[in-house]
Amino acid sequence: MSGALREKLQAIQPELAKAYGRPRWQAKRASGLEELVSCILSQSTTDLNRDRAYDNLRARFPTWQEVVDAPAAAVIEAVRSAGLANQKGPRIQALLRHVHQERGEYDIEFLGDLPLEEAREWLLSLVGVGPKTAAIVLCFSFNRAALPVDTHVHRVALRLGLIPAKTSADRAHGLLEELVDAADHYAFHLQLIRHGREVCSARSPQCTVCTLREHCDYLAALEA
Ligand code: SF4
Repeated sequence: MSGALREKLQAIQPELAKAYGRPRWQAKRASGLEELVSCILSQSTTDLNRDRAYDNLRARFPTWQEVVDAPAAAVIEAVRSAGLANQKGPRIQALLRHVHQERGEYDIEFLGDLPLEEAREWLLSLVGVGPKTAAIVLCFSFNRAALPVDTHVHRVALRLGLIPAKTSADRAHGLLEELVDAADHYAFHLQLIRHGREVCSARSPQCTVCTLREHCDYLAALEA
């Protein structure tokens, strides 16, 4: 990785901290499996609808065994507010079945003790789990050195030039994890999401008020 890229990151990070603070790690859900199920529900929907679907699923079926034993149609109905319910409901049931078959319980806390890449590989071997979901579970549930790249992180990192143009979101995980210190992954992820939502939106980035403007390739290209 180039020294210039590191320097750019080191210039950007204090600005992000000034604007959004430096969030300290805290688990979003009580267990890794809860986070994993929540991530499956989050695909292509808002946080609000994901949480509604998750809460409804847990209220209808308080144990994972009940989710597995339920008719597919009932699980689909329970998660309907997350959208793509016909896909997500059966996927969650299959995932839970897989975890139980392999581990003998509905529990993936063993991931916290595995070497990072082994834990990531295990998650990626599950149907419906890609690099972002794996990184979210590793980062948010286990405080591991993984940096989830959602649509905001991806867009802002591309515009700033922290990753090469046209880098896919999947590929960006490895590049950003290498660039950003492990201790900063969690905070950096949340800071870039806020920046993407509040300033650097997809359609109308607020470049005139952006505190990162001096470091931004996108803006430099516009002004060239
Ligand atoms: S200068 Fe504009 S494009 Fe660059 S990060 Fe800021 S808002 Fe986004």
